[in-house]
Amino acid sequence: MNPTGAQVAAIRDTRTQTAEHTGCPEWQLAGIRAALLATQGAPADVMSAAMLAAGDASLRVPSEPGFLGHWPRNASAERRRSAFTPCADHKEHPAGGCPACRAERAAMTEEQRLAAIAEAHQILAATTSQYVPPAVARALAQEAS
Ligand SMILES: [Zn+2]
Repeated sequence: MNPTGAQVAAIRDTRTQTAEHTGCPEWQLAGIRAALLATQGAPADVMSAAMLAAGDASLRVPSEPGFLGHWPRNASAERRRSAFTPCADHKEHPAGGCPACRAERAAMTEEQRLAAIAEAHQILAATTSQYVPPAVARALAQEAS
């Protein structure tokens, strides 16, 4: 979305209040503006997600993935990933299907692979409010059947 100055300031002010209560890093206007610009969707959906993200002390900086992780349940439309979200480790490749990451995974031992999966689950649980770990999802499915 293309935010107004007032919208960017509202996210910054909310983040500042979160920082005062939790000690988390404050967010700068330029970073908030860039993250809002990168996030696709109806302004009300994007602003709601950004506002929720501003209250999440575990997010160090404003970002499109951080906002998408707080997409509201009653948003007008599903969240959409931008066409090109770079890999966190290899900026020249897209996050989904990064060939450099695939090569690194192929070279891993089974122990390293399981440790990386466990770490990814921890990161997801910390950054995504609606994340359900696979083991929990399986247990819930068994309970339901
Ligand atoms: Zn990569």
